[in-house]
Amino acid sequence: MKALRYLEHGRRPELVDIEVPTPGPGQVLLKVTAAGVCHSDEVVMAMPEEQFLARGYSYPLTLGHEGAGIIEAFGPGVNTSFSLGDAVAVYGPWGCGRCHSCSTGAENYCTNAAAEGIRPPGLGAQGAMAEYMIVDDVRHLLPLGDLDPVQNVSLTDAGLTPYHAVKQSLPKLVAGSWAVVIGAGGLGHVGIQLLKELSGATVIALDVTEEKLEVARHAGADYVLPSDADAAGKIRELTRGLGANAVFDFVGAQPTMALSQSVAATGADVTIVGLAGGTMTVGFGLIAFDAAVRIPYWGTRGEMIEVFELARAGRVGVQVQEYSLGQAPQAYEDLHAGAVRGRAVIVP
Ligand code: NAD
Ligand code: ZN
Ligand code: ZN
Repeated sequence: MKALRYLEHGRRPELVDIEVPTPGPGQVLLKVTAAGVCHSDEVVMAMPEEQFLARGYSYPLTLGHEGAGIIEAFGPGVNTSFSLGDAVAVYGPWGCGRCHSCSTGAENYCTNAAAEGIRPPGLGAQGAMAEYMIVDDVRHLLPLGDLDPVQNVSLTDAGLTPYHAVKQSLPKLVAGSWAVVIGAGGLGHVGIQLLKELSGATVIALDVTEEKLEVARHAGADYVLPSDADAAGKIRELTRGLGANAVFDFVGAQPTMALSQSVAATGADVTIVGLAGGTMTVGFGLIAFDAAVRIPYWGTRGEMIEVFELARAGRVGVQVQEYSLGQAPQAYEDLHAGAVRGRAVIVP
């Protein structure tokens, strides 16, 4: 089968021919129907090699941590009500399944995964950018039913991650409140929709090009602003000097984290989702009183069901730019160049 793999440090991902994998005990083999392209893949491929290896990643790595497929085969010992041929989406932040976090569905915060070498598909385990993929446990399958896999596969990360981030701040986002979203890319354009659907906040979205600001407007942002040196002042003006009750930074670079910090209102949540390597120094006088800084990771199994329910009801959707598996290297070039509107999705 064809698979898109990161083969060695410094190389761009390449399409290679490999054997179709066989599901081991407890595992499931999916025929992949769609796989989303996330900026985190770029972060992984840009890591210094020591860091890549220290995090438990290894080569060759089939990319793709947003996956959907059709159940092709069960490994030995799988006991499930799923049937061969069922359409499913894959919950990506795999955990051990038995620790306290996992038992609440928060496998994204599994306390055993690191020690036991349990890694998400495409981020350590072999991922979804291939004709077939292995899922480690039926626990990580969500029935798609009649939801289109290409349109919805990215809800597993570009939907779930902003959902988890936004949900925790909902008590602060009452009517009359303000939310700021920095970066209207794959995650950000869903984050804007979630804020509009679930909260009473007025949403200000920022990005760096007019095309991306148009994506933000289309997603429902009430105001859009270029992410530049004037942005903080304009946000202060819009919020009548008070600042935003929640800031979601889907970039996480030094300038966006500085902006996030500077526009936080008293008691705000400042949520850094992006992994661009920025840092923040907080202390009295450096951030608003009672502000909380959060660094969330992905989302829970229950939240994934919630996001898919919103999609089923037509209340959130992913703007998809489709590529074939053969075009997958180009999808990464386009993401790298900032030329993807919404999410790039690979259709094998
Ligand atoms: P993306 O490339 O689709 O979107 C990023 C957006 O940010 C783009 O629209 C880009 O134009 C914009 N941008 C870049 N620099 C900017 C700036 N200075 N100000 C404002 N906007 C700017 O990426 P994505 O797939 O949506 O991922 C976003 C980030 O979230 C990445 O860093 C990714 O690694 C990270 N991520 C984190 C988690 C998590 O669990 N914490 C999960 C998934 C992705
Ligand atoms: Zn991701
Ligand atoms: Zn666990």
